[in-house]
Amino acid sequence: MPSGSWLPLENRLDRLKNHLREKAIEWGADLVGFAGVEDFERYPSTHRPPERARTVIVLAIWMEDPVLDLWLHLPAWRAWNKPSRAFEDEILRGVSLRLSLLLEREGYWAEPAPYEPGIYLKEAGVLAGLGVIGKNNLLITKEYGPRVRLRAVNTSVRLKPDPTVHFDYCGKCNRCIEFCPARAFRTEKYSREACLNYCQANLKQVSQYAVLWCMQCSDACPIGEDRRRTKVDNSSTPIRN
Ligand code: SF4
Ligand code: SF4
Repeated sequence: MPSGSWLPLENRLDRLKNHLREKAIEWGADLVGFAGVEDFERYPSTHRPPERARTVIVLAIWMEDPVLDLWLHLPAWRAWNKPSRAFEDEILRGVSLRLSLLLEREGYWAEPAPYEPGIYLKEAGVLAGLGVIGKNNLLITKEYGPRVRLRAVNTSVRLKPDPTVHFDYCGKCNRCIEFCPARAFRTEKYSREACLNYCQANLKQVSQYAVLWCMQCSDACPIGEDRRRTKVDNSSTPIRN
């Protein structure tokens, strides 16, 4: 990016913000939002950005195809005792790393936000203006509904936060509540336990090493539905090797 050092600081920071957004999209993100760290003060200290951060950049990738959300259990990865969600996470990890390097080159501290402990990514998405939390307890974006995955970058440069969204996408819709096989939304509060228990007991075996988790609550959502080309077929017979 040309330095534009003759410009007032505010204009330079606006240019940097635009540049970061453009690059993140070019490298594979579908949505990019900026949040100020002050907005995270409402969360426990373990779920706030580090002290030196001033801005959190939130990246979203559109789950255009369920294959992006495959959890791989490759034999070599078992040694780490962790399955890995491959494609979308690898893409977002790459984007967040490249953004961090770009910021470092501009003279600012930056690092991809860790997952655990880390900021609440859905809430960060809300604070960065990407969408709102829907009845399915997921971030609902105007463009893609809940069919996004998220990552974030913490940086020391103070960039203008994006305006938050104030729109009730859900209205009278209750599709996710009705479609949830675990009845995780039976009460006002989403039951993470019911959801997890169902998901773990009903992994969809796509191949010997790959499974898909339940996505019925996001699959059912009409927001962003018109963009979709591929759906999970919940009735198909699992492949077993
Ligand atoms: S399915 Fe309906 S109620 Fe659920 S998140 Fe989407 S719009 Fe909201
Ligand atoms: S992921 Fe499945 S089990 Fe969990 S809340 Fe959504 S529909 Fe229900």
